[in-house]
Amino acid sequence: MTRNILAKFFLMLAVCCVTEMAVAQNNPARSDSTKVNPKPASAAADSTGKEKKKGPKPYTDIITAKAVSSKGMVWIHKIEDKYFMEIPDSVFGREMMAITRLAKVPTGAGYGGEEANEQVIRFERGPSDKVFIRAVDYLNVSADTSQPIYKAVRNSNVDPIVAAFDIKSIRKDTSVVIEVTDFFKEANQVFSIPPRSKQQYKLTELQKDRSYISSIRAYPINLEIRSVKTFNVSPPSLKRDPSDPPGLPGGIAAGAVTFELNTSIIMLPKVPMRKRLFDPRVGFFATGYTVYTDDSQKAEDETIAVRWRLEPKNEADAKKQQQGQLIEPAKPIVYYIDPATPVKWRQYLKQGVEDWKPAFEQAGWKNAIIARDWPENDTTMSLEDARFSVIRYFASDIQNAYGPNVSDPRSGEIIESHIGWFHNVMRLLKMWYTVQTAAVDPRARKNELDEELMGKLIRFVSAHEVGHTLGLRHNFGASSATPVEKLRDKKYMEQNGHTSSIMDYARFNYVAQPEDGITDLFPRVGDYDKWAIEWGYKPFYGTSSAEEDKKLLNKLYLDKAYGNRRLWFLTESNPQDPRA
Ligand SMILES: [Zn+2]
Repeated sequence: MTRNILAKFFLMLAVCCVTEMAVAQNNPARSDSTKVNPKPASAAADSTGKEKKKGPKPYTDIITAKAVSSKGMVWIHKIEDKYFMEIPDSVFGREMMAITRLAKVPTGAGYGGEEANEQVIRFERGPSDKVFIRAVDYLNVSADTSQPIYKAVRNSNVDPIVAAFDIKSIRKDTSVVIEVTDFFKEANQVFSIPPRSKQQYKLTELQKDRSYISSIRAYPINLEIRSVKTFNVSPPSLKRDPSDPPGLPGGIAAGAVTFELNTSIIMLPKVPMRKRLFDPRVGFFATGYTVYTDDSQKAEDETIAVRWRLEPKNEADAKKQQQGQLIEPAKPIVYYIDPATPVKWRQYLKQGVEDWKPAFEQAGWKNAIIARDWPENDTTMSLEDARFSVIRYFASDIQNAYGPNVSDPRSGEIIESHIGWFHNVMRLLKMWYTVQTAAVDPRARKNELDEELMGKLIRFVSAHEVGHTLGLRHNFGASSATPVEKLRDKKYMEQNGHTSSIMDYARFNYVAQPEDGITDLFPRVGDYDKWAIEWGYKPFYGTSSAEEDKKLLNKLYLDKAYGNRRLWFLTESNPQDPRA
């Protein structure tokens, strides 16, 4: 399911390819950035008595008693229609992920909750009392700051300045204040609809009089900006040019379209997670860049697997895990169920999440993945808040679901995930199940499936989509690991299921016949899935680098997966391979 995820994968591949020729780069280890020494507030008027100079003013002149403030990683002060951002000095130079999602959209432009844009950014103090936002790309790195080549990488990799602000006020050695009203109201490429979508939807200028900020809220590690943006739309071309995008139906009629966007700016971890070097024999999503080191005679491409950060709570637990005991991670992976989800389906979505528990147990973790109902009475929690991963429920006729995630490009650490679930995926499930299994399962012959059966179907799709958000790609080689004659073998089917991976597109066992007595025709989290999670999430003790881990991972592969057809991974992107 999900072309989106495939598109994302190819995007990641594209990033890997680009690295070979990329020149504009930057460095993840750089934390001091280009922070300049705080300057004293410049004088409000100069000695010649000329016109008052622009520059920082006393704090209380800017942040007046009227301010309504929201305090988090940065502080937001709202004064009448204006928004001011107070940035603590500790935030300058820190890398952050800006993720823009569509909150409400015109017909034909996707669905609420879908991601529109993401970009790593950094706030920086500039000259002349300015604050800059730089867009950071992770294509070339030299992580070791002690090596001379670190300077060479830095010198040839300048991150673009995508926004500049005048400093309105400075609190000495504490913070600076800028005004962000126009910036978030307008359509800066980094925080708005990307150029490609604009072309597709035929959007032209942003209409300032019909665009506004709904809210900006600050949280401990993130900032949530809700805005409404209205764009004019260019009319459809009179020529029947198939390359000309059709635009949005509402836009053609009205000449304009309005989007509601949610931008989350999330602080990336100060210490990036230990990387796990990608191995094409195990089907993880990956991200990559080119590494320059003094010791190497070439620029090395490095590809890293995308996964969650699971760490022991303390030393004692780490010891237990080392001795082979299961331990709970310090921070489990938690999925919340959108409160818009019909109550009767919630339990099945949750089961799909927790079907992955045994896979994490194989990797040494107990209760590593948990599903929860959204606490509707907790007014401090927001569904768009990037600190929470959610299965969003969309009232839509689309027959699909998709499982994206947002990862730290320095380490592959998954920061959050929002699974998109379309109501009408149930129609697709009903059709599949009836067509493929009605000969064997009388329950499939009804026009409307029983609730319990539909629930089981939902559980299966939930588990598949959650698999994507744990870092797993489709494994289109899994179903061919089952010998055809075994598909009618009741005992074998009970033990193994008809495919070794829920990440395949194997759907249901349609080979089974009524006389075989096979009742479980569903895919399940299988041997391959458990193995892949083990490969991705098993912690290594006594090693200090991804390269050392790689050796242990190779050994693990040889010990467990090599020669075991059920643990093979075959990519979804090689249609020439008959096994896939
Ligand atoms: Zn899928």
